[in-house]
Amino acid sequence: TVVTRFAPSPTGFLHIGGARTALFNWLYARHHGGKYLLRIEDTDRARSTPAAVEAIIDGLSWLGLDWDGDVIYQFPRAERHAEVARQMLAEGKAYYCYASPQELDEMRQAQKRAGVPMRYDGRWRDRDPKDAPPGVAPVIRLKAPQNGQTVIQDAVQGEVKVENAQLDDMILLRADGTPTYMHAVVVDDHDMGITHVIRGDDHLNNAFRQLQIIKAMGWPEPVYAHIPLIHGSDGAKLSKRHGALGVDAYRDMGFLPEALRNYLLRLGWGHGDDEIISTKQAIEWFDLPGVGRSASRFDTVKLTNLNAHYLREAPDAELLPLVLPRVEAKLGRAVDQVGVARIARGLGGVKQRSRTVTELGDNLVFYASDGAPPIADDKARAQLTPDSKALLARLAAAFDGVTDWSEKPLEEAVRRFAEAENVKLGQVAQPLRVALTGSTASPGIFEVVAILGPVETKKRLLAAGG
Ligand code: GLU
Repeated sequence: TVVTRFAPSPTGFLHIGGARTALFNWLYARHHGGKYLLRIEDTDRARSTPAAVEAIIDGLSWLGLDWDGDVIYQFPRAERHAEVARQMLAEGKAYYCYASPQELDEMRQAQKRAGVPMRYDGRWRDRDPKDAPPGVAPVIRLKAPQNGQTVIQDAVQGEVKVENAQLDDMILLRADGTPTYMHAVVVDDHDMGITHVIRGDDHLNNAFRQLQIIKAMGWPEPVYAHIPLIHGSDGAKLSKRHGALGVDAYRDMGFLPEALRNYLLRLGWGHGDDEIISTKQAIEWFDLPGVGRSASRFDTVKLTNLNAHYLREAPDAELLPLVLPRVEAKLGRAVDQVGVARIARGLGGVKQRSRTVTELGDNLVFYASDGAPPIADDKARAQLTPDSKALLARLAAAFDGVTDWSEKPLEEAVRRFAEAENVKLGQVAQPLRVALTGSTASPGIFEVVAILGPVETKKRLLAAGG
C-alpha cells in the first residue's frame, strides 16, 4: 500500500510551496487508499522553533490536510539514527573517519588551489582504525560506491543520474554522535514505511545521496517524485515579494481553504482544462503523470477568482462565523444580536458580489452599523442633494403605510412613491441605497430595506434627510 509523508523543517511558517507539497502527498495517499504521514524535521536545534511547528500544524489543519497517526518528530529519533550508522559500520558499509577539521580544511584548500572539486578524498576509507590519532572523536562516513552511476527513475523528472565518482563519502554520524540530515531522512523514511517521496525538486540532488544509503542498507527504494518549484508571476523563484507568505496570511486575507487547495492543486498539476476541481474530484483524479515538469507561476488574480467561486458556493452558515470577526474589526466593537441576525439574512446576497471573506465583511458592515453608516466615497455623497434628502424624508413617511414589510410589497411601495413624485425609480433607489448602506453599490435595495426593518430604515432615512 502507498505511504507518503510531508516532512517540513519547522524553521518558519507553512509557505505556499510546502502547502502544495503536503497537498500532493495527501492527495496521492487518499487516491490510492494509502496513508499520509507528517514528520517534523526538527534536527536543526538552532533553527527549529515550537512556534513554527504550531504554524505548520495549524496551516495543515486549516487546509484540511489531515495526516494519519501521530506527528513524528525527527530529533527524538537520534538514537535510532545512530544505531543504523553503527550497524552499517559493523557490516562494512560505513567507516570511521578520524580526519580533524583542520586536516579537512587543508585538504579543501589544496583542492581549491588545484582547481578540482572540493570533496572528501576517502583518506580513512581503507585505513585501519588502529591508526587513529589519540583523542580524536571520529565521524562515521558512508562507504559510497566509487564507480558506476546512481540512477533515479523519477516519476516527474524521468530518469536522472549521477556518476558515483562525483559524490564523496558523506558523513552519516557526526563526531558528537548526532546524525546528519541526509542520514536521518533515509532512516525515518524507511522506518515509516514510506513508498513514495513527493517533494520539491530542490531536493533532487539529495535524492542521489539518500539512495546510496538505501542501497547500502539493502532497503526497498521509494518512488521519487520531485515537483518543480513555484515561481512568481515574473518567472523568478517565489519570494516574499511575490506573495510567498505563510498559509495563515492567506487565511487572514480572506481566502477560503477550499479555494487555496484548488489553486495549489492547479499549480503544477492538471486535469485537462479543468480549473474548478472539488476535493472529491481531486482525490479521484490525482496521479503523478499529471504533474508538470516546468515551474509554475503563482498568480494572485487566479487565486482570487477561484476564491470568489468558492465564496458563492459556501453555505451562509459556514461563512457567518468567518465574517463576523471581520465586521467587528471594521466597526471597532462587537455586533449585537440584531446585527448578527441581519448579517445572517443579508449574507447570501452580498457573497455574490465579494471575492474574499474580507470583502464580504466590508460589504456587510452596513447591516451592523448604528444608524446611518458612514458614506463610502464622493460618488455616494453626490447622491445626497438637498432635493434627494427631502425626497427621502417623504419616502420615510410613505413607508409608514407598508404593512407587509417584505421585498415585493416594499418594491411596489417605492414604485408607487416614485410615480407619485413624478421621478424615475432610480432617482429614488440610488439615494435610498446611499442612505441605508453608505455606498452606491449594494445587493438588491429592496432586500436591504426588508432586512433592515421598518424602524432602522426610517432612522437611516431621517438621518440622511436631516
Ligand atoms: N525537511 C525538508 C524541507 O523542509 C524536506 C525533506 C524531504 O521532503 O525529504 O525542505
